[in-house]
Amino acid sequence: MLYEYSLSAQKEHFFNITAQVRDAVSKSGVSSGIAVVFCPHTTAGITINENADPDVIPDLLLGLREAFPDRKQFRHSEGNSHAHLKASCMGSSETVIIEGGRLLLGTWQGIYFCEFDPPRNRKFYVKVMGE
Ligand code: ZN
Repeated sequence: MLYEYSLSAQKEHFFNITAQVRDAVSKSGVSSGIAVVFCPHTTAGITINENADPDVIPDLLLGLREAFPDRKQFRHSEGNSHAHLKASCMGSSETVIIEGGRLLLGTWQGIYFCEFDPPRNRKFYVKVMGE
């Protein structure tokens, strides 16, 4: 089963989409299998990281900005090569195991949609497959 979700990204941010992925698993009725979360954009990504301490996400964004600053040597005419770099660093998808109808995430893990080139209207897909 394939589910599509949308979000409005007004700033560079990691959006916690764990609830939407759980919603897709619940709607699918799959109790054992996998969920693939996929981002069909080139300046946004999907990652799994800490969902407990709210300071982790700003720290990740700070680190990514320092690792991938905007550079005058970039050639891409759209002017957002730093966002493309961050998106490739995060990747376009995550796969999570489903067992007992639940995502096998760790206690401190959440699934995030990573926006690097706001403002944009975005979407992502959740594909749920049973055994
Ligand atoms: Zn671009």
